[in-house]
Amino acid sequence: MSQASQRIASLAVSETLAMSQKSNELKAQGINVINLSVGEPDFFTPEHIKNAAKKAIDDNFSFYTPVPGYLSLRQAICQKLEKENGLSFKPEQIICSNGAKQSVCNAVLSIVNPGDEVIIPAPCWVSYIEMVKLAEGTSVIIETEIDQDFKVTPAQLEAAITPKSRAIILCSPSNPTGSVYTKNELKALADVLAKYPNIIIIADEIYEHINYVGKHESIAQFENVRDRVAIINGVSKAYAMTGWRLGWMAAPQWLASACNKLQGQYTSGPSSIAQKAAEAAYLGDQQCIEDMRQAFARRRDLIVKLASEIEGFKVNKPEGAFYLFPECSYYFGKSYNGRTINTSADLAMFLLEEGHVASVGGLAFSAPNYIRFSYATSDENIVEAMRRVKETLAKLK
Ligand code: PMP
Ligand code: GLU
Repeated sequence: MSQASQRIASLAVSETLAMSQKSNELKAQGINVINLSVGEPDFFTPEHIKNAAKKAIDDNFSFYTPVPGYLSLRQAICQKLEKENGLSFKPEQIICSNGAKQSVCNAVLSIVNPGDEVIIPAPCWVSYIEMVKLAEGTSVIIETEIDQDFKVTPAQLEAAITPKSRAIILCSPSNPTGSVYTKNELKALADVLAKYPNIIIIADEIYEHINYVGKHESIAQFENVRDRVAIINGVSKAYAMTGWRLGWMAAPQWLASACNKLQGQYTSGPSSIAQKAAEAAYLGDQQCIEDMRQAFARRRDLIVKLASEIEGFKVNKPEGAFYLFPECSYYFGKSYNGRTINTSADLAMFLLEEGHVASVGGLAFSAPNYIRFSYATSDENIVEAMRRVKETLAKLK
């Protein structure tokens, strides 16, 4: 039968990628769509990183790479972890992959047995729940709202833990909310988790460098949970390298070995050229990160100001990443031209088709009353997009 397996048939399509594709299709028809759906830096990869990749081609880095990545890259990542995060890892504990997305999935598949529970504070990134599904685990969602700045409290966490809890996926700075946990907030969560030694902490830190409030804090710094944290990171966001596909995990040895075995049967080591580029990114001048961070900070201020002026939007001030996540339920039940908005997905589709601005409805992030706008685009695009959103939403009565 020409039918996908149950495992794949039950997976949801990635909504972020789907909305972006839809926006590109409309653009191909000649419609001037502003794409605030997918989250990726609009900057080009810095020159010194591109040059390292060109040199790698000329130097014949064309053979299979070690499954966990070149030792030189893993050493560079260990240096980064030591220098920037004060964390000591051995190269054997680092597994490089085809992007942070694969690293999260590797970790989930290597930790979760069928029926195990994975705690996921929501709003959460689209792929976590689907990855848990792939591992035949059960996602336990902790809901948070804009009034608590979308941050889970220690009491909420404790209430979600059961004897079946096997992992928690924490994302700070967060996609889709932009919230950043402070050191004290992370310590309070670590103190709860310290009481449950069976729970592995998957700390998705891919937005580490897109932080507007100061130094990045990792939950791995706390000794009482240190040996149970798998840090996920990569070059996609910090160095504007989304298409290069290079991410990594730094984890306890047993987990690194499990992911190594998984990759050995599934993908092998990541691209040789991308690895040499990533090595140059970590060892080279870090000014490029700061330049992009400053641009994102300016855009954050701009979009917060403009979105706050839109009737019916409740907006907070994100402290990291490049997403704005307004509450938009004010528009549910309203109509225009016989079209009624019942969900945030309806609203996102209305904004795309009627206002030519692509966004992503909140349900994809387990937060149905919200809508996500990525502001990793030019100031001009942000201004024009928010003008269109305001004008389009005003049609709804
Ligand atoms: N985690 C989060 C929270 C993300 O937003 C993304 C988006 N790309 C990823 C992981 C995956 O990153 P990569 O492009 O390195 O696979
Ligand atoms: N992480 C980005 C986003 O949330 C990229 C798309 C994806 O990988 O889901 O838009």
